[in-house]
Parts: sequence; C-alpha cells; structure tokens
Amino acid sequence: MIPVTKSFLPPIEEYTAQVQRAYNNGWLTNRGALVLELEDKLTAYLNLDQSRILLMNNGTIPLQIALKCLAKGGEVITTPFSYVATTSTIVWEGCTPIFVDIHPEYLTIDETKIEAAITDKTTCILATHVFGNPCNVEDIERIAKKHNLKVIYDGAHAFGVTYKGKSIFEYGDVTTCSFHATKLFHTGEGGAIFCKDSDLFHQLYYRHNFGHDGPLAFHGLGINGKMSELQAAMGLAVLPYMEKILNSREVLVKTYVEGLNPTFQKLKLRTESAWNNSYFPVIFENEERLLMAERELLANQIMARRYFYPSLNTLPYLNHSPVPISENTAKRVLCLPLFYGMQAVEQALILAVVNNFS
Ligand SMILES: *Cc1c(COP(=O)(O)O)cnc(C)c1O
Repeated sequence: MIPVTKSFLPPIEEYTAQVQRAYNNGWLTNRGALVLELEDKLTAYLNLDQSRILLMNNGTIPLQIALKCLAKGGEVITTPFSYVATTSTIVWEGCTPIFVDIHPEYLTIDETKIEAAITDKTTCILATHVFGNPCNVEDIERIAKKHNLKVIYDGAHAFGVTYKGKSIFEYGDVTTCSFHATKLFHTGEGGAIFCKDSDLFHQLYYRHNFGHDGPLAFHGLGINGKMSELQAAMGLAVLPYMEKILNSREVLVKTYVEGLNPTFQKLKLRTESAWNNSYFPVIFENEERLLMAERELLANQIMARRYFYPSLNTLPYLNHSPVPISENTAKRVLCLPLFYGMQAVEQALILAVVNNFS
C-alpha cells in the first residue's frame, strides 16, 4: 500500500539521545530545556525577525487561544476550504463563522469578497494558507486596518514558506502552525503560535498555562496548551533533517508537475512566495472523475486523500449557507501521495492511473 503521507522518522538513536536529556534533567514538561531550545532553534531556522514563537501541544489549541484573545465571541470571517479545526475552533470559542468564498485558483480566501461580509459584530478574520500557499496578506491587512479587525492565520501547512523574503509566520496579528505527525515538520503532536505584539504575546502565554501568574496567582482564564519535553525531543531530532526533507519533496513535486496531464488544474502559487511543497492537490473536471480515479488508485493499493472535503460551511452543526466555489472545489480536489522516501516507480504508477481521468 502506498500511503498518502508518512511521518518522517529520524534515526531512533538521535531521538532517544534527546529523550535521554529529558531523563537526565528529570523534567518532562512545563517549558523545560528541550522546549526552550526548540523555540530558539525554530526562531533561527525560520529567520523570525519581529515575531516570537510559543510552542504548544497541538495546532488546534493555539487557534482556540488566539480566538479567545482576539475574536471575543463575535463574528469571525473565515474560509470554508480548510481543515475542520479552522471552523470548529471558532464554534468552540462561542463565535460565529462567516464564510467567504475562495479564489478558484489560489484556493485561499477571496480577499475581494471580505468587505461585503463585515458587520458591526465582526471582530476577526481567520484565514488559512491553504496547502502552504499564502493568502493575499497585504490586502487582508489593509481591509483589517480599515475596519479595525484582528487577523489570525492558520499556518498549519505553511512551515518554511516565505513571502517577499520573510517568513509567512510574520504576517497577521497571530499565526498558528501544526506540528502533527502528518505535517512537514513534526513533533508527533504539537504546534506553535507566532506573534509580534508583546502585550498580545504575554496574553497568549498566560492563557496557554492555565492563566498562571506565578504558582499562586492568576491573570485570567487559561487552558493547558503546553508542549512537553517528549514532544520537543522529537522536534529537535527532526529539525536537522528539514533541508533534506524539503529538497526531496521539491524533486517529487517536480516529477508530478512534469508527468501530470496538463489538462488537470493544479494549485496556482502566489507570486513572490517560496513554497514548501507540502501537498500535491490535483483538481479534477468533476466529482465523478475524481471518484473513478480514487477507486482505480485504491485498486492499485494507492491511498490518495480528499483534502479538504467537505467544504466547511456544510458541517452538520452549522446552518447551511451556500459558498459555491468552495463547495465545487472541495468535490473535485484530491491530494496525491507525497512523503520523504517516496520511490520513482511509485510516482510513475500514480501518474499512470491519475492521467486516465484527466
Ligand atoms: C492539521 C491542521 C490543523 C490542526 O492541527 P493539529 O496539530 O492536528 O491540532 C489546523 N488547521 C489546518 C489547516 C490543519 O491542516
């Protein structure tokens, strides 16, 4: 079976050497030496200039904490073409998601449709850098400033992406990332928040640790969002391999692009950005063709993934309001297998099958 993705596993000795450090310290969580070291190393790796990083236990809690601080129970303008966590966190935080349709080629939120969705209850925009493809961060910032809104980016797919030479995590009031096992850089489970403003960073910080202000006092309401030393150990063992991982994916994506029938629609990348080759979505002419291709791939022991499906405005706990381009795209997009160590013969087989359905 060819899986859609495979976690990168560093040599076990290198992982256990990091775990050994936690043992030697007798310290397993609560911002120990490994978490602090991983924050420093990621700050350097990502070339963060103004933003600070705070590591967390997954990529969902930072969305919740950011919404708690910035959305304040109001209406949140968001994209329906993302992973469920982008919408479920809005609902979980007692806010109302207001869906704005996506750009048909970039697949990110269509910034030209945002202003029409703003009401006096709108507090925040939560947009996803879909498949690592940056949103139009400049127009979104301009709109947010004009209407006094906050901007949160779900950057779960965007590790290592730059826009105009700067980490994409430096844009918006807050950006979140996921270090889940299936993501490009991972800590098994894990995530992070990035923020430039020091007052806001302080709020995010205390909220991720139960609201503690020292052992006996509290700033306010908090939750447990802390990354453990065991998660950081995996991150410290994976990080030295990032160049290798990114280079290998670049080669794999190039092979897909060159081998795929040119009639297929592919992701259009934002100009002036350096992409991370995190996913390889193929957009079929219609859902029927996608389903035929998926079936044929499975018959050849190949797992592709309908990602993202369904369009999030159709979630069962929401009042259905139509968002045509997102709904239509979600029915036609299939992500092909892409992982470090994928073999040329595997890719050739996948291309041979998929090209029958262009
Ligand atoms: C993976 C993902 C998340 C959630 O991250 P977890 O670490 O799994 O909690 C949120 N948003 C998007 C777009 C994702 O792909």
